[in-house]
Amino acid sequence: MSTKTWNGVPLDQINWFPTIDKSKCTKCFECMNFCAHGVYTKNEQNEPVVSEQYNCVVGCTGCQKICPVGAISFPPREYLNSFSNQNKARLSGCSCGGKC
Ligand code: SF4
Ligand code: SF4
Repeated sequence: MSTKTWNGVPLDQINWFPTIDKSKCTKCFECMNFCAHGVYTKNEQNEPVVSEQYNCVVGCTGCQKICPVGAISFPPREYLNSFSNQNKARLSGCSCGGKC
């Protein structure tokens, strides 16, 4: 279990990692070669796979930008905002879920 956190939230509770659209991927492996955090590996079918999803740096979209065919996607930025708001509420002792 990961003990690293982002804004006070354990990383293994934040689903921030790339998703590969296999129908677009050309298996160039630029994503794997670009990522310095070991998120990608190559599987037995010689395809890139997201094998260490919680190594992904929350908020980073570097591999998405370098994929030549637009095969990589991430959750919308608003997804991260929800964690920030939840954490603010938790730290303040409020139970509104960040709405106040
Ligand atoms: S950079 Fe894009 S096309 Fe190349 S292997 Fe990664 S996902 Fe596939
Ligand atoms: S978003 Fe950044 S840290 Fe995450 S897999 Fe892509 S390059 Fe690696």
